[in-house]
Amino acid sequence: MSEFDIDLIKEIYRLRKEERDKHVREPDVYYVTDLVRCPLKREFELRYPEISLYEIMSPPTILGEFVHKGLQKLLTEIYGSDVEIEVEGEKKLSLPQGNVVRVKGRCDAIVKKDNKRIGIEIKSGRSDYGIPLEHHMDQARIYNWLFDLDETYLIYITYERVAQYKIKDKISEEELIIRITSNTYPRYVWECSYCPFSIICPYKKISK
Ligand code: SF4
Repeated sequence: MSEFDIDLIKEIYRLRKEERDKHVREPDVYYVTDLVRCPLKREFELRYPEISLYEIMSPPTILGEFVHKGLQKLLTEIYGSDVEIEVEGEKKLSLPQGNVVRVKGRCDAIVKKDNKRIGIEIKSGRSDYGIPLEHHMDQARIYNWLFDLDETYLIYITYERVAQYKIKDKISEEELIIRITSNTYPRYVWECSYCPFSIICPYKKISK
């Protein structure tokens, strides 16, 4: 028997697990996040889906989710019916080999303003070092393509800085195909230190 009358930790676990279970990997689907990180992680997630399960209760990720929810509520208060929250999008793409894949993504918010469609992507973390980060700018460029946006704003909420950056550039389909078919592992050396699959990965890079 528990000494607690309510168990919020279990509720957070349940809600995050339900959300994760909604997004079971499909072989022909590439999420936007797959295209801005090590391509091998997608392969490992298809083959060994349980290995990364512990990330459900990762404290930085939970904190990040709460920052998202807070800012999304603020956006709704400010823009009312002119903002959509957690917008899902999907486009098909033909690869040179002839097969068709689907690119899927979920934008934190899309605001309609002055005949423009503006994406909002929220980033939170401890440090503001190097912001806006390259893979975040790439993510915004892909959203501009996927959701036919005029621009995407990266909103950083960190311990050291709260700042926004406007990304107008749109990724080309040629670059997307290069990213989908890439077999350069990892995309960034630092990724391996945070990767749940590093325990089985022959390509793991050890940074000194
Ligand atoms: S350990 Fe590194 S190379 Fe291997 S899957 Fe993870 S990020 Fe990619």
